[in-house]
Amino acid sequence: RAKTEARGSFRFFEPEMDGRLQARRIFEQDLREAVAGKAFEAHYQPIYCLREDRICGFEALLRWNHPVRGRVSPAEFIPLAEELGLIIPLGEWVLARACEEASRWPDGLKVAVNVSAVQFTSASLVSAVREALRSTGLPGRRLELEITESVLVANPGATTAILHSLKALGVRVSMDDFGTGYSSLSYLRSFPFDKIKIDQSFVRDLCETDGTEFIVRAVIGLGANLGMTTTAEGVETEAQLAKLRAEGCDEVQGYLVSRPVPASELPTLIARWNGEERATA
Ligand code: C2E
Ligand code: MG
Ligand code: MG
Ligand code: MG
Repeated sequence: RAKTEARGSFRFFEPEMDGRLQARRIFEQDLREAVAGKAFEAHYQPIYCLREDRICGFEALLRWNHPVRGRVSPAEFIPLAEELGLIIPLGEWVLARACEEASRWPDGLKVAVNVSAVQFTSASLVSAVREALRSTGLPGRRLELEITESVLVANPGATTAILHSLKALGVRVSMDDFGTGYSSLSYLRSFPFDKIKIDQSFVRDLCETDGTEFIVRAVIGLGANLGMTTTAEGVETEAQLAKLRAEGCDEVQGYLVSRPVPASELPTLIARWNGEERATA
């Protein structure tokens, strides 16, 4: 009884609280079931090489079509998957799926896969990568892994060892969302990245905010001097493209070239942009 009375003082908040907690529990359960049942899809967005004027690869992006909510953003379910310990099976699934898909593309095309901090420093990452390459026959040089600065913050010691094991497999590693963290610059000095992906927030402001073009120019110069490829993310306009080209950026990615598309649309996309190159579907 006493318990009921004490709880009574919160009665105005309870329905809402319960509702939110319950919704969250249902969402968690849905995510568990989706991971167990592999109810995800990978979409692919072209990465366009400016010097060669052709698509040089695709980034795999997870898509979850929730039965009730419809399409849920990875920005929403990836953090939850990390929290619930589901990111390892989910990350391994997308890695294997993307390598399998890429093994059917023309040899000049790479595939980029995002790896979350928890997954990157897990004991199983290197063996999962090795197994994905072995079972699909994809050469390591055609796989890129994208990591963000949070990986390095969480565990710099383990990261160095893992980066070297990946290099030994021929796999490339990119720093994603460059410029959005706190100490991106110091990480560039300590870790042997192959590519810097300039965050889309810089690209968005490129033609609008004074100073942004100097930052972008500096990052491109930095990449060139460190022997790293630079890729600009979120390129949506011809004006942004022209600026990036003039600054010597190596690659662009964004809605201007194409949105992320299902694998079934890739042969058409490759034929349209790369002419004679063909995917064997
Ligand atoms: P990201 O790796 O930086 O991926 C780029 C995001 O920008 C994607 O959002 C893409 O759809 C979006 N994008 C591409 N071009 C444009 C453009 O021109 N304009 C705008 N406004 N956006 C553009 P998406 O697919 O919603 O993914 C969001 C984030 O979720 C990714 O950011 C990545 O951090 C994470 N993510 C997605 N798939 C995976 C995955 O398989 N594993 C892990 N660990 N994270 C993933
Ligand atoms: Mg990425
Ligand atoms: Mg990014
Ligand atoms: Mg991002």
